[in-house]
Amino acid sequence: MRRHRNVKIVATLGPASSTYEMIRALFEAGADVFRLNMSHGVHEDIAKRHAIIRRVEKDLGRPIGILADLQGPKLRVGVFANGAEELVEGAAFRMDLSTTPGDVTRVNLPHPEIFAALEPGTSLLVNDGKIRLHVNACGKDFADCTVTVGGTISNRKGVNVPDVVLPVAALSEKDRGDLEFACELGVDWLALSFVQRPEDVIEARSLAKGRAAIMSKIEKPAAVKAYDAILQVSDGIMVARGDLGVELPVTSVPPIQKRLVRGARAAAKPVIVATQMLESMIESPVPTRAEVSDVATAIYEGADAVMLSAESAAGKYPVEAVLTMNNVAMSVEKDPTYRSVIEASRVVRRESVADGIVAAAREIAEATNVKAICCFSQTGNTAALVARERPHVPIIALTPLMSTARRMALTWGAHCMITPPQERFKGAVLAAVGAARSDGFATEEDQIVVTAGVPFNVKGTTNILRVAPCDERLISRVDPE
Ligand code: ATP
Ligand code: MG
Ligand code: MG
Repeated sequence: MRRHRNVKIVATLGPASSTYEMIRALFEAGADVFRLNMSHGVHEDIAKRHAIIRRVEKDLGRPIGILADLQGPKLRVGVFANGAEELVEGAAFRMDLSTTPGDVTRVNLPHPEIFAALEPGTSLLVNDGKIRLHVNACGKDFADCTVTVGGTISNRKGVNVPDVVLPVAALSEKDRGDLEFACELGVDWLALSFVQRPEDVIEARSLAKGRAAIMSKIEKPAAVKAYDAILQVSDGIMVARGDLGVELPVTSVPPIQKRLVRGARAAAKPVIVATQMLESMIESPVPTRAEVSDVATAIYEGADAVMLSAESAAGKYPVEAVLTMNNVAMSVEKDPTYRSVIEASRVVRRESVADGIVAAAREIAEATNVKAICCFSQTGNTAALVARERPHVPIIALTPLMSTARRMALTWGAHCMITPPQERFKGAVLAAVGAARSDGFATEEDQIVVTAGVPFNVKGTTNILRVAPCDERLISRVDPE
């Protein structure tokens, strides 16, 4: 099974997507990576979804990435007796420390530190800023507000207080527990919410101990400022537009998105564009023009992946949402303008032998009709470098390590496959040809480019490029042992 597009799709799982049938349907519709949001649902539910993903992976024989998203110091309301309430403009609404389930007049906000920092006149923003409350009066355990922008408020919706600086640690006690739980379960990526400094990433990395790659969610003004330093210590980036568009003016999000995507591409680290991509599909089987255009824009910018949040986690049309992203991607990627945009924004970085080899691989693919670039990768770094070139032919990333294949599920264009560890170059070429043919990338008459490192199984040694015929008999004749 292969995809016919390069950009990857991340689908968040939730109540609307918890069964084997649904998760399999999402994968078949095009989801490459599944996101488990640690903010919602208990560990037991998350473990169940995790087990189902691994079953789908086994049944379909394709590596699937799993991303666990740590809540971070996000402020959230408690729960409602009815699950949700409609707040209308002009109504009074109270937030307090009482844990009694909420109703249309009040709800729990379990954060004494917010009440301590609030002042009359402050705004409270709920649900990625969709609902606005104006604080009229407040004390150490309550805030009496007027609804200035109404909407549906439901269990555990996020709250932002953009005008107030709150003293919060990067990883809460809950995050530490969730991190250990996720690593024990076996996730491929850990996303850190509300990263502000490179030290936050370094701390999470030391707790993960190599069990998962670390993705920084950029959603705080401080993280935008310290982006270069944060990028350097991260394995991947998420442009987390939900909170970003609340913490900063929403009109600053598009230029920031462009800058973050470009930076991550240059560093050969996967970057996800996330939040409200197909928001109307929570309720509707078809997207709006603006949403389609937003997904397309992220793809033209060269993002590695686009993401669904509530659309797939809690919406009415999870499969349709994935199919929509898939179809937008196919349409964009066959547009000749897409190629020219991608090429114009390619970063030329030639600092190592590997940089030179991946650039040469791409150029050979442009000059001839080779069908794929096949790379052997232990850590996924070589595949990431090939992906940075954004070649117009498929990238087949071969690795003996399942953990590497799963992480690379997020990397632009990478079709990941497991091969036995190679010891000789000839064996590697044969394995590459076998992989390209078995998954429908090439036939016996075709040629592919193979990159590898000799000696094998040593990190960071990409030093060979070979244009190989896909006919095993020819390989046996010309290649040395
Ligand atoms: P984040 O800031 O981490 O994105 P979020 O609250 O925006 O947190 P998303 O994963 O983006 O969460 O999903 C959007 C909405 O979908 C949530 O606010 C919630 O209403 C619903 N949702 C997502 N996952 C779940 C889940 N596992 N259980 C219940 N509701 C969920
Ligand atoms: Mg967020
Ligand atoms: Mg969200």
